[in-house]
Formats: sequence, C-alpha cells, structure tokens
Amino acid sequence: MTTTFDFDLFVIGGGSGGVRAARMAAQRGARVALAEVLGTDGLGGTCVNVGCIPKKLYSYAAHYAESFDESHGFGWEGEKPTFNWATLKANRAKEITRLNGVYGNLLRGSGVTVFDAFASLTGAHGIALATLNADGSPGHQEFSAKHILIATGGTPHVPHFVGREHVIVSDDIFDLEPFPKRLVVVGGGYIASEFASIFNGLGAKVTQLYRGEQILRGFDDEIRHFVAAEMVKAGVDLHLNAGVVDIRKTDDGLRVECEGGALVMADAVLYATGRVPNVKDMGLEAVGVAQGAQGEIVVNERYQTNVPSIFAVGDVTNRVQLTPVALGEAMVVVDQLFGPAAGKAPRNMGYEFIPTAVFTHPSIGTVGYSEQAAREKFGTVTVFRSEFKALKHTLSGSTERTLMKLVVDAASDRVVGLHMVGAEAGEIVQGFAVAMKAGATKAVFDSTIGIHPTAAEEFVTMRDPVKA
Ligand code: FAD
Ligand code: NDP
Repeated sequence: MTTTFDFDLFVIGGGSGGVRAARMAAQRGARVALAEVLGTDGLGGTCVNVGCIPKKLYSYAAHYAESFDESHGFGWEGEKPTFNWATLKANRAKEITRLNGVYGNLLRGSGVTVFDAFASLTGAHGIALATLNADGSPGHQEFSAKHILIATGGTPHVPHFVGREHVIVSDDIFDLEPFPKRLVVVGGGYIASEFASIFNGLGAKVTQLYRGEQILRGFDDEIRHFVAAEMVKAGVDLHLNAGVVDIRKTDDGLRVECEGGALVMADAVLYATGRVPNVKDMGLEAVGVAQGAQGEIVVNERYQTNVPSIFAVGDVTNRVQLTPVALGEAMVVVDQLFGPAAGKAPRNMGYEFIPTAVFTHPSIGTVGYSEQAAREKFGTVTVFRSEFKALKHTLSGSTERTLMKLVVDAASDRVVGLHMVGAEAGEIVQGFAVAMKAGATKAVFDSTIGIHPTAAEEFVTMRDPVKA
C-alpha cells in the first residue's frame, strides 16, 4: 500500500454502501477513514435510521391490527388491545441506537478511522472535514487519500407548490407527534404506498393521492392494479389522477386541494415524491466530478467517476435505490481496489434480476421483467397466473387475496419474471430470485416439488398458461 497519502481509501458517508466499503477495505489491509455528517448517530445511514429498518418495524406493528381481528376465527376471544404510538416510537429508537452502536463497533473493530464530520472534496485526492473544536467552535481538517469513495445517499424531494411548508417527509414520519388521526400521503411509489398501508394498519384514516393512472409505475401492471385494490379493501382511500394544487392550514387541520377541486382534510401530509442525491456543498463542481441532471454522480461500470481516483456507489448515483444494491456496488469497488477476499473471485454487479419487495399490506415481491417489459425484450412470452384466498383466511374472516404470476420467455422457456402480491412476498421471492439468476426454465419450475401447504408452492404448480 502507498504511504504518500494519509489514507488508502477515504469514504464519505456512513450509510449502507459507505460502511460496507470501509469495513471490507480495512479488512483487506487498507488504511481507511470514513466521515459521517451525523456522527455516530448516523452510522447505518438512511436504511438504519429512517428507512428499511424502522419502516419494517412499523410495518410489523401495523400487521398486529389485522392479526387481532383475524384471531377470532381461530377461537381467540376478548377485546382488541389498544395501540400506543409512544411505546412503538421509543422501542424503535432504542433498537436503532443499538444498531448505530453495532455499526460503529464494526468499523472501529476493522480499524477504520471514523470522523464525525461533513466531508467535501478539495481535489482528486483531497478531503476537507468541517469538524467542531473542543470549545464547540467550527473546526477544519484536511486529509489526502489515494482513493475516495462517495456514498452520501439521497434525501427526500418535495416539489414546489403553495403550502409546501406544511408537509412532512419520510424522515419526519417515524417520530411524528401526535399520531395523525387523518394522514394524507402524496405519491405512488415505494415510500408512499408503504406508509399508506402502515398508517392505515396503525389506525389512521389514510388518503393516498397519486397524480397518475395507477400507483407503483414500473411494476407489472396486473400487480399494480391488484395491490391497489387490496390496499383499498384494507381501508386506504386511494385517489388516482389526483395531483395536489395547494395545501392550506385551517382550524380543522390541513386542507389539501386536488386537481378537479376535491378537498381532503388531514392532521399531517406526507410527501413521498422521490429522492434526490446528497451532493450539496461537496465541492464536486470545483474538482470537476461529472454530475447528471439531478446532481447524481455519474460513474462507469466500475463505479469510477470521470476523476479516476474518485468512486461513487449507492443512492448518490441515482440508479437502483436499494440497500443490497449499495452493498453489492461497494463490494465491487473494494474488490477492484484492494483485491477480492481470499479464495474468492472479484465481485460483479448484475442489474438484470434484482429482487425487490414493497412492504405494502399485502406486500409485493418481484424479480425480473414485468409482463410488459418482457414482451418488449423477448417478443413472445407465456404468462402463468394464480389468484387465490390464502389458507389462513379460510378461517380468519379476511377477504384478502393473493396473486402470483410467472412470465416465461417462449423461445428459451426461461422464467424471466416472477411477481407476487400476498403475505411475506419478500420472503418467498428471495429464494426464487436465486433460481432465476441461475437461468431456471419453466420446466425446472415444473419439476420442483412444492412445500405443502404454503402459498409459495403455487409458483411450482402453475401448469396452464393464461396468455401467450
Ligand atoms: P445512505 O444509506 O443514505 O447513507 C448516506 C450517508 O451519508 C448518510 O448517513 C448521510 O448522513 C451521509 N452523508 C451525506 N452527505 C455527507 C457528507 N458530505 N459528509 C459526510 N457524510 C455525509 N431499501 C431496501 O433495500 N429495502 C427497504 O425496505 C427500503 N426501505 C426504505 C424506506 C425508506 C423510507 C427510505 C427513505 C429508503 C428505503 N430504502 C430501502 C432505500 C435504502 O435506504 C437506500 O437505498 C440505502 O440506504 C442507500 O445507501 P447509501 O449508502 O447509498 O446511502
Ligand atoms: P419513487 O421514485 O419510488 O416514487 C416517487 C413517487 O412520487 C412516484 O409515484 C412519482 O410519480 C411521484 N412523484 C414524483 N414527483 C412528483 C411530483 N412533482 N408531484 C407528485 N408526485 C410526484 O420514490 P420514493 O420516494 O417512494 O422512494 C425512493 C426510493 O427509495 C425508491 O425508488 C426505492 O428505490 C427506495 N425504497 C425502497 C423500498 C423497498 O425496498 N421496500 C422502500 C422505500 C424506498 P410518477 O410515478 O408519476 O413519476
């Protein structure tokens, strides 16, 4: 390793991608530093603090509501317990603090030097840290590094309109006080749909406003329509083609006016209208790091920017905004800069069969191409479909239904799309994603023995195509 620089690798951002890269590079013998603007409290980044983890904990909390209702059909008796928002918030905060500590220990245990500071670039190998002096006054430190990795993630984006100052974003929702009896959610993507379901489950009256024809653009059309219908059945008041005109504060709460004149009253309005890369004041322009239209850092297939010593991974590159993707990208960077782990081949990132789940109620699990995208890419595809009431709901009294769908490339028989709406969809689809990465054909699916009685077995028992 070189000794002309203070560090071999300087990582900016202590989120999913940054922590993984710093830790793995240090384990390979590199001298590594990491700066996190939020300090120890921020370690773990969006996913740990205001993303995947607290969201999933709140989703579990929300599912109890239906579980209590459904238990009666199985013989359980008694009043439904009441929900205490303060308890959930406090328990979540405790768990997140524990995780922040775990991340700090992992980094320090690997020998990473961690700075509690905002970092910016001073050159192709230069980093400036805005620190605090012992007396609390602003301080400044500079370091050099052979390689710099930018993993600063993204931040919620709220468009401009009258009343913008009244809305909250996903960062604010976890500690919202008081619990919103009436919540308006604006947007139709992952975050809007997940929080509409979660707060509906927790007992809020939820109205979701989406500007387009159907929520979750980009997902399989049938899956979108199906999950939207299930969310409505569960109690979400979903308004489509409902752009927001303005939001005004009144004595009865926030008054949201939609295009077409519809009015919705709310205690809180959550805007979940996408995220933008965290690149402000980072000196990218001065150093000449190329950026895209939204400020995202432009990288090549090796995650290298146009400045060869500077790399970027994760949400700041504004591509696939998922934690496992940021982790995978970080590993590719570490392997190419410091060599792969002993006995292992260098990591590659493929973007074709990335599985993903949307934790709506019921949830979506999906991997591969939507039916529409598959028709465009492969020409002729065969579609298999199964819609049913899950065994649990034969006694639970719930009317929730499950949808499973396979899209098969007719020419090769390869399963190129696998989609599901139903309980534990993410858990089910993860395993099938391995088969699909391996190129499994429909014949292989057909020859696989099911696990009975499960919902997952439907994926290996669909015999008759619904359309070609
Ligand atoms: P981040 O995790 O955002 O980390 C960036 C870090 O850099 C932050 O800690 C930030 O404080 C720090 N930073 C920024 N600028 C500077 C600077 N100049 N100097 C020092 N530090 C800086 N993904 C999933 O896979 N599954 C999910 O269920 C899921 N749920 C989500 C729910 C929500 C509400 C949100 C918002 C996101 C969710 N995501 C989920 C997406 C996932 O959180 C992100 O894709 C992932 O965190 C990206 O990792 P990253 O390393 O690129 O950035
Ligand atoms: P998304 O890009 O998923 O969705 C943004 C939504 O906001 C879309 O419905 C979009 O509509 C709408 N929108 C955008 N601009 C406007 C506007 N000006 N006015 C009204 N509506 C607008 O972003 P999210 O914020 O939901 O989430 C960001 C990313 O985080 C996700 O893409 C995902 O990668 C990640 N994430 C992953 C999760 C998971 O893995 N379960 C959970 C949460 C987040 P339109 O479609 O018409 O453009």
